[in-house]
Amino acid sequence: MQDIDRKLTVSMREAVDRAEKITVATHLHPDGDAIGSSVGLLCYLKSLGKDACIVLDDKYPESLGFIARRAGKDILVYEENPTETLEAISRSDLVFCLDMNSFTRAERLGETLRKSGGGKILIDHHLHPDSGMFDIVFSETEISSTSELLYYILLSTPEIDGDAGKLPEGAAEALMTGMTTDTNNFANSVYPSTFRMASELLAAGTDRDAIIDALYTNYRENRFRLMGEMLKDRMKITSSGVAYMVIDSGMKSLYDIRDGETEGFVNLPLGIRKVRMSLLLKEEDDRFRVSIRSKKGISANRCAMEFFNGGGHEQAAGGRLIKGRDLSEKPDVREVSEYVEMCTEKFFNGKYE
Ligand code: 5GP
Ligand code: MN
Repeated sequence: MQDIDRKLTVSMREAVDRAEKITVATHLHPDGDAIGSSVGLLCYLKSLGKDACIVLDDKYPESLGFIARRAGKDILVYEENPTETLEAISRSDLVFCLDMNSFTRAERLGETLRKSGGGKILIDHHLHPDSGMFDIVFSETEISSTSELLYYILLSTPEIDGDAGKLPEGAAEALMTGMTTDTNNFANSVYPSTFRMASELLAAGTDRDAIIDALYTNYRENRFRLMGEMLKDRMKITSSGVAYMVIDSGMKSLYDIRDGETEGFVNLPLGIRKVRMSLLLKEEDDRFRVSIRSKKGISANRCAMEFFNGGGHEQAAGGRLIKGRDLSEKPDVREVSEYVEMCTEKFFNGKYE
């Protein structure tokens, strides 16, 4: 990663000082990095005495409750409280967008965020940031996570001044959590700066064992029962080395699957030598949500952009599948499988790699 531009940190601190009300927004279906970075920033803003809150389109998974609870009442969810959530954005005079490269990633909050009258600051690690829409942009793709980027930004502020031990209560744990989930517990996107952050946070007393326990030893049994069935009977592998699994609504209700409980499934087929790219498609009310992971040299991002109206990172991306030119219909499972086979075949033979 590049060193943090101190001039940007100064501008950010001035904007924070000027602001009365601040909102912190992140992407739809918030993951550990989205919640970890948002809560980390909220803790910092609160330590400066600011009136700040986090706004989400939809609820975070229960597995991240141990971090999200740090925000107390200052976390508003559109699907639970639409009016209050949009009003909080409209009333704020400074908006931070974290772990997303454009307003549209906040889905139903996107338009209100874009139209909000105050300053706008982006802190993100995705490809292709929509930089023109923001007053201050911290964008770095050679980094594990937004949580790591925020860690180094906070370290460059006068309050923290390079000392992880001075991070406000809750921030260290939140940032360590976001970095841990986005690297899949140090398996991918790990840089020298990532280990440095982990090392400094450990030295400052962050309880990593408790984080690992909360994240990885607390699942409900049904997740593993579904995982077993998916791997045994439902994973398909195409001749071009694409593994894909479709979890339809029937499977979700059969195994009583909640948000976040299939996290990590998409990575599993990459353990097979011949698999070059893995896709997981999960049925939602009006679409199939798509997760893509690829081995080095193959661009999951490109595949997501080209065929699934999405994006992300080179090796980890996502998108959605909606049927029809007007994007109004949802395909059935057979059509989903046909589409995946057709487009991944095109992807590999059309030299999209
Ligand atoms: P996941 O598969 O874990 O949901 O997402 C992997 C990566 O792809 C994340 O960095 C996420 O932000 C990105 N991503 C997931 N869904 C979408 C999408 O619909 N649009 C875009 N632009 N990125 C996505
Ligand atoms: Mn992230």
